[in-house]
Amino acid sequence: MPIDATQPYDDANVFARILRGELPCTRIYEDEHVLAFHDINPQAPTHILVIPKGRYVSWDDFSARATDAEIAGFVRAVGHVAREQGLVAPGYRLLTNVGQHGHQEVPHLHVHLFGGRPLGTMLAS
Ligand code: AMP
Repeated sequence: MPIDATQPYDDANVFARILRGELPCTRIYEDEHVLAFHDINPQAPTHILVIPKGRYVSWDDFSARATDAEIAGFVRAVGHVAREQGLVAPGYRLLTNVGQHGHQEVPHLHVHLFGGRPLGTMLAS
């Protein structure tokens, strides 16, 4: 079920639990501000989630409340992961879903990083 992105942060969400070490993940990259790991249900040969370590519900929440250091760290980490995974030359796609119409299911900001095959047009339908 898609979430309401205007709700307060829920510390019981699955990515909060991964950040606290309560649930496992296949970690790709981690630094002070960011964790990146493989999506559990990949939609492409490469499907990575990049999340900030701070308590942000969505891109909207993050862009409004995060510090400049968190925002810079997050954006740079997404680029770093894409480069490290060899995705720049073949190309890749970034996606972040927000709220009901965006079909966001996990209420902790995450950027999807897709690659490894031609990804087609932007939206399926
Ligand atoms: P979204 O619809 O943008 O909120 O996407 C949530 C994504 O989180 C989906 O692609 C799920 O497959 C992924 N996901 C959910 N639980 C886990 C988990 N425990 N580890 C890795 N990815 C997960």
